Amino acid sequence: MRLLDLQYEFMPSNKKKYPLLVFDNHTFAKKGRRLWYCSKNVKLACKAQVRMDEGGRIVYYNSAHNHDPPRFHKKKDGSYVRL
Ligand SMILES: [Zn+2]
Repeated sequence: MRLLDLQYEFMPSNKKKYPLLVFDNHTFAKKGRRLWYCSKNVKLACKAQVRMDEGGRIVYYNSAHNHDPPRFHKKKDGSYVRL
């Protein structure tokens, strides 16, 4: 698996300052300049995290999720709906 080729998207959040990162069917919240923790980090103590390089490419992915991916649907206008 070549991490540099992996695609991700951002899910706008109206509650938080930064959008959520959508990657590998999971969502991640920004924790540092280049570090993202799984959205379930606080609630479920999920240890999964993503690190990016300066150019916004994913260079590290800890996929140790302790839960199923959240279910959401991307609408045609680019917004997301949680199912
Ligand atoms: Zn997780």
